[in-house]
Amino acid sequence: MNTHDSSPGAAFLPAGTVPIGGHVLPPLPYPYDALEPYISRETLRLHHDLHHQGYVNGLNRAERELLNKRQTGDFQMVRFWERELAFNGSGHILHSIYWTNMTPLGGGTPGPSVSTQLEIAFGSFAAFKGQFTAAANEVQGSGWAALVWNPAWRRLEILQAEKHEDLTQWGSIPILVVDVWEHAYYVDYRNQRARYLEAWWNVVNWVDVERRLLLAVSTGLPIT
Ligand code: MN
Repeated sequence: MNTHDSSPGAAFLPAGTVPIGGHVLPPLPYPYDALEPYISRETLRLHHDLHHQGYVNGLNRAERELLNKRQTGDFQMVRFWERELAFNGSGHILHSIYWTNMTPLGGGTPGPSVSTQLEIAFGSFAAFKGQFTAAANEVQGSGWAALVWNPAWRRLEILQAEKHEDLTQWGSIPILVVDVWEHAYYVDYRNQRARYLEAWWNVVNWVDVERRLLLAVSTGLPIT
């Protein structure tokens, strides 16, 4: 290991590999006020700069703590740090997708590949939108709704996530996610999650969703 490098294990990493404890907050792909009037400048600034940064920090901390445990052989508290790893790692991934899933030029209808797959999985775009909105609205407590590509059976599915990491199907690739933690909407909509969701459809970046689906379908996950 290069002991002069602040990121443990950073030497000899293949291109694209994030070093242990080396995650960074991705910049918002648009100005803070770009999604107004649907999502306010204040909400985006707090949500991105404080909440998402907190998950990045928590993920780096968990990775460094687990590195330390491997080096010392002392695995006390390993259950706590594994939970921190799952929670903060999932939070970092979902928020990174959420920002790029939105755009000031959003709304409308999906691209051709997404449209085809939505029809295969749900029957129609309207049926998908109904289930997705209901799933998001009905998340118990803090969480997400996610449209995912399941590479094992090569079909889209809608999942809820409680917190960031509970209720998933292993291997699923999220291509469209909506944050329904109160921090995502309380400043703008108070306790009215349904009004936030209704507004949110106006900023969905279907170009990004199409791009993510095309990347996901090129991935295989054999389970037998
Ligand atoms: Mn959030």
